[in-house]
Amino acid sequence: GIIDEEQYDYLFKIVLIGESGVGKSNMLSRFTKNEFNLESKATIGVEFATKCITSNNKTIKAQIWDTAGQERFRAITSSYYKGAMGALLVFDISKKQTFENLDRWLNEVRAFTKPEVCIILVGNKSDLAYMREVPTDEALKYAVQQKIPYFETSALAATNVEKVFEELLVGIARVND
Ligand code: GDP
Ligand code: MG
Repeated sequence: GIIDEEQYDYLFKIVLIGESGVGKSNMLSRFTKNEFNLESKATIGVEFATKCITSNNKTIKAQIWDTAGQERFRAITSSYYKGAMGALLVFDISKKQTFENLDRWLNEVRAFTKPEVCIILVGNKSDLAYMREVPTDEALKYAVQQKIPYFETSALAATNVEKVFEELLVGIARVND
């Protein structure tokens, strides 16, 4: 239904993290505007976008932060993480290297956020099944080790994108109730 953007019960900051090119900005535009862009515009980044969802008769306003490409230079600063209550940690299922760097991202997000931060592991580009380099069970095993949920998405095909954002926001609401 129609939601008044100014009427909400919760406001949660969440951050998108993961290697450059995995599809973070397109996940954000898919979720907030139902848009997808085939060209990578790594240098043009919005600071954040907002979107409201409802759950249990409560309106949750998400303030979703995206990088402006600074992850390419390993230069994400503490201000990016400041006040974040959740993170989508994204890799590309068709690029093994983006999976191999997950430890570094997890360490960073855990270092700069509160202990109760909610993190979801996201294997994006599930539409590229024929190019898959990271088997689902391998990603799932890593997620279980790290005690975080795992989902596969496609920002291109609009598969599971809403679902991961909603899972994260509802998870944050539960933890902070
Ligand atoms: P970011 O650097 O993590 O923000 O990644 P971008 O959102 O800029 O996406 C990088 C490239 O991957 C772009 O060319 C996108 O069109 C493409 N891309 C993003 N998501 C998907 C997806 O789900 N499937 C496919 N096939 N390509 C995607
Ligand atoms: Mg980006």
